[in-house]
Amino acid sequence: MHYSISTYTLFHLSIDQAIERLIHDGWKSIEVMGEGKYHGRPLLYMEQMKLKEIASLVKKNNVSLGFHLPVTGFNPASVDESTETIWAKCLSIMEVIDVNYVLLHPGTNTSIQAGIESTALFIKKMLRDLPEMIKIVIENVPYKEGSIGTSIEELISIIDHVNDDRVGIMLDTGHCYMNAQEHFLKECEKAFPYLYGLHINDNHGQHDEHLQIGEGVIPFKQFFLRLGKRDIEYVLETNTIKRAEHSKLHIEKFLTKSTRCNLRVSIESDYKYER
Ligand SMILES: [Zn+2]
Repeated sequence: MHYSISTYTLFHLSIDQAIERLIHDGWKSIEVMGEGKYHGRPLLYMEQMKLKEIASLVKKNNVSLGFHLPVTGFNPASVDESTETIWAKCLSIMEVIDVNYVLLHPGTNTSIQAGIESTALFIKKMLRDLPEMIKIVIENVPYKEGSIGTSIEELISIIDHVNDDRVGIMLDTGHCYMNAQEHFLKECEKAFPYLYGLHINDNHGQHDEHLQIGEGVIPFKQFFLRLGKRDIEYVLETNTIKRAEHSKLHIEKFLTKSTRCNLRVSIESDYKYER
């Protein structure tokens, strides 16, 4: 199990400053947010020298990275010139900076079916373009008319179309709760067999607030009980570092409890067996 932190926690800083600060704070796994006019977006236009500086800092400190691809203008669900251009730029960034995975939002299409098929086709191209060890992770997004990937079924359908085990799901707890509300736990469980990782953040069900666990109303205790301990990426995607650290402590508490609970269940069942 890996804890990772999103540079979204330092959205007010430029991406190089944010990465530097998180490394300085001791984080060993970081998700680089490629969005935000003054944050991740400038990565697309960054000089090679600067990219190389980031790469060497990351390497020197043994940090692993994930790359949250830009959202605006990047639309695998209905590919256009801008999508192709942004992808080409992202590829050239990844020639300098090593990442373990790239994360994408499928984007929008007036037809869900066409959006799913287009996203799958584009992911196949991405798989060909990327080195073998880099995974592709699809994220569930909040409901908006025409958006693809608002339900876990749509993500699974994309994965089925691609049919490659380099592709998985990043389950965003906040987005899932906004869409599924009281069916949140059931909806999450559908993603479990395909999980690459989690974007962990809390909210009140209306807005994407990126709060720490416990500040909103998402039933995280039951969530982690159902999830159990898994070898996945736990990406803390809150709007401050403090909130990320807080969420991490909460998760550790939940996981110790759920392990104890599982242990009790197995002791009880052993006991029954002996009788
Ligand atoms: Zn997210």
